[in-house]
Amino acid sequence: MPNHAITAENLTYRYGDLLAVDHINFDVAEGEILGFLGPNGAGKTTTVKMLTGQMRPKEGKATLLGMDVTTQTEKVQAQIGVCFEIANLYEQMTGLENLKLFAQLFSVKNFDARALLDRVGLGERGKDRVEGYSKGMKQRLMVARALVNQPRILFLDEPTEGLDPVSAESIRNLILDEAKRGVTIFLTTHDMLEADKLCDRVAFIDRGKIAVLDTPHNLKQQYGKRRVKAQVTGHDGKLENREIRLDTDATATDLQKLFSAEKVITIHSEEASLEDIFIQITGRGLA
Ligand code: ATP
Repeated sequence: MPNHAITAENLTYRYGDLLAVDHINFDVAEGEILGFLGPNGAGKTTTVKMLTGQMRPKEGKATLLGMDVTTQTEKVQAQIGVCFEIANLYEQMTGLENLKLFAQLFSVKNFDARALLDRVGLGERGKDRVEGYSKGMKQRLMVARALVNQPRILFLDEPTEGLDPVSAESIRNLILDEAKRGVTIFLTTHDMLEADKLCDRVAFIDRGKIAVLDTPHNLKQQYGKRRVKAQVTGHDGKLENREIRLDTDATATDLQKLFSAEKVITIHSEEASLEDIFIQITGRGLA
């Protein structure tokens, strides 16, 4: 058994002169959810394409489940599920037919299309043509399709982007379920809150390089500044905001002063978000 589901060693891709993915190195453990976060053009999709055997690295190597992706592409692809942002479903066919067709392409037997549709909340709509599905339903069908071959690694590219809250939540639950079953998840996203909720570790990718890779908890401990935010009544009776940094030598006295000298109306503590930390590390936001 390999120790890691995914290993990238010096993985590199150039489009002509443009270095899109720049000698990146990382491992993903089996059953881990790794968030791959970065702004547009950071190199996320290019990395996924190399990891899934759709593009050959210009330098370096990707290994999935102990197999070299470049030399054992078909074997690797039989063990993975891939869901990309752009829906490429057969619109004239029903949801069930789409899944069955995909199962045939993969030569998957023992496959229960109905149960899979139920899992993504489309059980009732399985016999309807996909052209009548909403964006969220199509996305859920795409995720279901990526699960047809019971993959050991699932690659999801922005799986909840632009979806209604119900569809987004059902996809998030499915991701967590799959990880509990031991499936490794490689999730690319712009959504820092989602990454924070779902991912065991997150990699920040910026200009083709991995700027940092760690658990959300460790990143917040290392880079995040926790603070207390309070609203107080000012001299003219209007509300004013106060902010006190936690974890400094002055925290205790500052808090004492706040309560003795001001009329505190509301108070709450806040920890840095992954978005704040991303900006701190890379000098720019995700937008
Ligand atoms: P997004 O979040 O917008 O999908 P991304 O992080 O997935 O962005 P990539 O699509 O991997 O980024 O692109 C990385 C860089 O490579 C960008 O500068 C992009 O413009 C460039 N690029 C991507 N595909 C091509 C291509 N086919 N030809 C030339 N340049 C490309």
